[in-house]
This record gives sequence, C-alpha cells and structure tokens, in this order.
Amino acid sequence: LRGGPGKEIPFAQPQSRTRVYAIASGKGGVGKSTVTVNLAAALAARGLAVGVLDADVYGFSIPRMLGVTGKPTRVGDMILPPVAHGVKVISVGMFVDGNVPVVWRGPMLHRALQQFLADVYWGDLDVLLLDLPPGTGDIAISTAQLIPTAEILVVTTPQAAAAEVAERAGSIVNQTRQRIVGVVENMSAMTLPDGTRLELFGSGGGESVAASLGRLTGTTVPLLGQIPLEIGLRTAGDSGLPLVLSEPASPAAQALQGVADEL
Ligand code: ADP
Repeated sequence: LRGGPGKEIPFAQPQSRTRVYAIASGKGGVGKSTVTVNLAAALAARGLAVGVLDADVYGFSIPRMLGVTGKPTRVGDMILPPVAHGVKVISVGMFVDGNVPVVWRGPMLHRALQQFLADVYWGDLDVLLLDLPPGTGDIAISTAQLIPTAEILVVTTPQAAAAEVAERAGSIVNQTRQRIVGVVENMSAMTLPDGTRLELFGSGGGESVAASLGRLTGTTVPLLGQIPLEIGLRTAGDSGLPLVLSEPASPAAQALQGVADEL
C-alpha cells in the first residue's frame, strides 16, 4: 500500500447512489464475516452490483469465505479488485505476505481504509458492505469520518453477555451520528437431526440489542433476522461458496435472504 491522502472517496460524495453498510459486532467469532459474505452473495445474485471491503484487519477471513484466490491488480494508480460470485472483494489480507498478523496502528489503519475506498476501482456499486473489526476501534471511527452516510448493521449472538458487548459497539453512533439499519442475531437455536431445538447460546440477545439501540438513538431499530446455528453455514464458509448459493433452501440461507430483503 502506498499513496497518500487527498483523493476523493466516491461513496462519500452527495450524489453517490451506493448504499454503504458497515457490519459491526462487539466481539469476534459471532459470525460477522459469515453474515457479510452471505448478504453480499445474496444481493449479487439478485443482479445488484456489490462490493465487499474486508476491513477486519486482525481477523480477515472474507477471501477464504468467498473463495477468492486472486490478488488485486494495479492499473495506473487504481487497484482492480478480484471478483467472486459476482462480488468485488478487497481485503487487508490481500496486501500482506502469507498469514502474518497486521500490526498497524490507528493512523496507518485510517490511511489503508482511505486507500481501499478511494484507490480501488469499485465501479458504480449498488451496495458496499464493510466488514469491520469487532469492537469500537479505530476502523469504526475512520469509517464514520470517511463515509458519514454508512449505515451500521450490528451482528450479535443470542447470549446475554455477547449482546451487552454488541450494544456497546452499536452505541458508537452516539458519537458518529450514523444510522443503525438493524440487528442480526446469529447462532440462534439449532435444529437437531431428531427435530429438537437446541438453544446453545441462549435466547433473546438480538431482541435485546435492537431494543436498547432503539432507546439509545430514539429510533426503531429492527431485528432483521435470526440465523440458526447450522453445520452447513460453517462448511460453506470453509469451502468458499456461501450457503445462500450452495444450499439456498436451508433455514439459515432463508433467514439470511430475509435480512437481504431488508437492505
Ligand atoms: P466473526 O467475523 O464475527 O469473527 P465468523 O463469521 O468468522 O465470525 O464466524 C466464526 C465461526 O463460526 C466461523 O468458523 C463460522 O464458519 C462459524 N459460524 C458463524 N455463524 C454460524 C452459524 N450460524 N452456524 C454455524 N457456524 C457458524
């Protein structure tokens, strides 16, 4: 990565028609990236022009989940993103050698995000999904500064402890004045082969986060979907073919389509 500040970010221009969603969570491992890739694939399959920017600097996993093996190519001063399942993809992971950890600090992260937004040739997107790192860190603040119109989609599990942290992550909008588009509860009750419902991570987290973020912002924050725990959702992520494409009739894929309907 190189270059400097000063270039315009097309998505931040008043005439931009691209809807930008920043996918946020309180903690890692709640399925933020899984939700992001499935929403991206679902929207692209509907004929929308979709981009995903994996800004989860410490836990980037989007390229694997979308089966992207190609690297971005440089044409003049633009970076062309690889495309997978009709989705343009850029990840921090594409700019590091091997599986080394990224040890950038705030200002470097801000510059990297700025560059991903300004120097990548995204074209005329309908939707850009930004996979944020968990928590309320530098990247979330930078996103708000660089694209104030970005809307926040909060992902939580049903567990009370996870929900509390997700609320904290969502409450960043108190400072940034961004809109929260809704909450997705992931890892909701799973159905066992004998038909029993198992609430492995409890219940109520999604409702609770939506209600408290609604109170906080004085708006209605909807719970957009409850995605069940499903083995296929994990294996789909590992194989690089999102579940909404590989097993569209599965309950988790249906729930994810339901969230995509609301965006
Ligand atoms: P995050 O981006 O929040 O760190 P990931 O999307 O990487 O979380 O998900 C963490 C792990 O849980 C991954 O291995 C993923 O495949 C798995 N996973 C996520 N959601 C589900 C689900 N609903 N059912 C089964 N496995 C899931």
